[in-house]
Amino acid sequence: MHTRQIMVGAVPVGGDALVTVQSMTTTRTRDVEGTLRQIYQLAAAGADIVRCTCNESEAAEGLVEIVRRSPVPIVADIHNNHRMALEALDAGAHCLRLNPGNIRNPTHIKEVANECRDRGIPVRIGVNGGSLDPDLYRRHGNRVTPGALVESALAELALFAEVGFDDVKISVKASSVPLMIDAYRMLAETVGHPLHLGLTEAGPPPEGTQKATAGIATLLSEGIGDTIRYSLTADPVVEAHAGRRLLEMLGLRERKGLDLIACPSCGRAEVDVIDVANRARAALDRLGIPIQVAVMGCVVNGPGEAREADIGIAAGRHRGHLFVRGQVVAVVPEGEMVASLVDWATRVHRDGAEAALAGADVTAAARALRDADAPVTPPGTDGEGEPTRVERVLSGAPEGVLRRGA
Ligand code: SF4
Repeated sequence: MHTRQIMVGAVPVGGDALVTVQSMTTTRTRDVEGTLRQIYQLAAAGADIVRCTCNESEAAEGLVEIVRRSPVPIVADIHNNHRMALEALDAGAHCLRLNPGNIRNPTHIKEVANECRDRGIPVRIGVNGGSLDPDLYRRHGNRVTPGALVESALAELALFAEVGFDDVKISVKASSVPLMIDAYRMLAETVGHPLHLGLTEAGPPPEGTQKATAGIATLLSEGIGDTIRYSLTADPVVEAHAGRRLLEMLGLRERKGLDLIACPSCGRAEVDVIDVANRARAALDRLGIPIQVAVMGCVVNGPGEAREADIGIAAGRHRGHLFVRGQVVAVVPEGEMVASLVDWATRVHRDGAEAALAGADVTAAARALRDADAPVTPPGTDGEGEPTRVERVLSGAPEGVLRRGA
């Protein structure tokens, strides 16, 4: 859905801007060097915007230097004490996050909104199911409901409107996936502000990542959401990485790293696909190049998938047939599949596909064809290549039981 656009530092959020990734530091913000180290790690992992807590004056003092040296815009996270919001503004924060559930005095809220309006600094109204205003919670039957989350955001918006401030993005996070989805859908129908998506307190990976993905991806696929955060019980680098990967998978951001396509393996596999795929992922991830790579266990789907990817390898008779843009460029022993993938990925990235293809083994296509025509276990033959006959034993065996005979 089309939302208005706001600027968080130099990063646009909303409107026709790309969906952005956010994360939050886990360091003490007064620890300037430690916090900046983590911000750089988060930016490298894909975070476009980073939030730091501003929970004490020392944190606000730290923010001065952090904002000055950060590679990405900094959001100051404010809870309970509106004076910390004012100190964060003085420190140069690019955006504030205010939680309506724990700064409830209208005079304080309007004082902060006034300052933000005068300085041109946006605010995220960050509603959280775990810290709803107690009055509002009671009015909604002592339950966190989509209506309660949205009402909390709208009440804060109304206070901002009283001082003519509307430079706002909004989140309505809950720890239940269906609740969070319903709350954002309701919010998207109610306001035109950019929305920050997140499932709060998702927990540790992999379940936490799955839960957050279920909520965030559902909404993004409906066109809801302008910026996202995975709230994982993990190193925040994992969060930033997960957010970035999700957007790449949905085609909302250009791929920065590896996209590995691999078959799940089955009884037809002619190599240990799981082992090859895991080793390939580790080795190719280290290259840090945007490339799509297919690892396929046999000739059934292998050549097709391998042809579609930038490079791919399909197994045939315990060998790997390596494709670049659909052309077989090498046939390598099983033990060299990963090294060969790394070699060709590097060449394609460095020299381009055309130049890489010029270095192809001219005999590879014919060899691959021979392997594909004679897989290790073609239908009707046993593992050693001996002809087999399958016959049903009609007497003495349950119906459907097959026996192989010479
Ligand atoms: S590509 Fe081959 S080995 Fe992999 S799952 Fe499909 S049939 Fe099985």
